[in-house]
Amino acid sequence: MKYLTWIELSKSAFEFNMANFRKLAGDLKIMAVVKSNAYGHGLYEIAFLAQETGGADMLGVYSLSEANFLSSKGISLPILIMGYILTEDFVEAAHKNFSVCISSFDQLKAVAEKIGGRSLKIHLKFDSGLRRLGFYPEEIPYLLEFLNERKNFHVEGLFSHFADIEDTVTHDFARTQRTTFESMSSSFMQLYTPLRHMACSAAGILFKDTYFDMLRVGISMYGLWPSKETLITSLKSHSALTELKPVMSWKTRVAQIKDVRPGDTVGYSRSYRVTRNGKIAIIPVGYYDGYDRLYSNRAKVVINGCEAPIIGKICMNMSMVDVSHIADLKRDDEVILIGGCGGSQVTADFLAGISGTINYEVVTRINSSIPRIITD
Ligand SMILES: *Cc1c(COP(=O)(O)O)cnc(C)c1O
Repeated sequence: MKYLTWIELSKSAFEFNMANFRKLAGDLKIMAVVKSNAYGHGLYEIAFLAQETGGADMLGVYSLSEANFLSSKGISLPILIMGYILTEDFVEAAHKNFSVCISSFDQLKAVAEKIGGRSLKIHLKFDSGLRRLGFYPEEIPYLLEFLNERKNFHVEGLFSHFADIEDTVTHDFARTQRTTFESMSSSFMQLYTPLRHMACSAAGILFKDTYFDMLRVGISMYGLWPSKETLITSLKSHSALTELKPVMSWKTRVAQIKDVRPGDTVGYSRSYRVTRNGKIAIIPVGYYDGYDRLYSNRAKVVINGCEAPIIGKICMNMSMVDVSHIADLKRDDEVILIGGCGGSQVTADFLAGISGTINYEVVTRINSSIPRIITD
């Protein structure tokens, strides 16, 4: 069966990006961040690539259900669940040997009571400035005291997360966070041998002194820049990583081609008015699939190597494209929504610009029911 709409994952692009981070990390560990359906790329497919190509030492997921899914599919890399887990589910996480994140004292006490004497691999999450999940510096002494009496808690990791490292070309706050994390970790280092980790993609690309023992690479493993600011800083500082290759291409096929005449309007709300005799193609992708309705009258696709503009409103399951300039187009021909080659390309960054969001959201929101296929 041919696919109507599908996502191609370039194995060679994935390997290229991973090899770059491997070069940066040297002997340190790399966590492949595959939360949220691997940023829309396909949780199992990306975990499989991370495992088979030998690029990653660990996988980072958000939820217990993502961890369970990967383990049911035979993925054997160690898994850290980075998100919140219900207290009662810690028994299951312990039983399955997943590493879990603990982010508050209150949670730690409840989990200790819940799991009894079972052993549990924990990563303590420190709030160094993000004001999301995590312990404050002043809690550290109590934390150490509590853990000292609970030998079944194996402190496998200590971690923190940057607040604005990708949003700016001035990194003062990130530096302060780094220092805070280092000092929060220091008293643990005398008692345990935890993996300390703080670096996301942008930190990995820009600052070696944020690496500690492990990099957590998300967006750039998928070949996307965390931001323009990260790219600019990388180029200006002659960082070792200046090229990434997008892993994802999103494709569909032409469902119908029809002539349109001056005075016709295309689609709901009659938002596009035809001014010349022309041709439109209807494609079977809409906002249900994660093709944002804000792309209406603004996005473009690539067909037969030519760019073609989206016209009219994006519908739930369909969209319209002006193909007046494309010769020999047939029903069932391929349409590229994200990807392309040479001069005709649509990037996740381009679509993010239209929606006023970030490339992370564009790819992450692609409907998980669309098949993901590993190519080359
Ligand atoms: C999502 C996430 C990452 C990955 O960040 P990227 O910018 O995609 O590399 C790293 N650490 C934590 C805690 C995260 O939630």
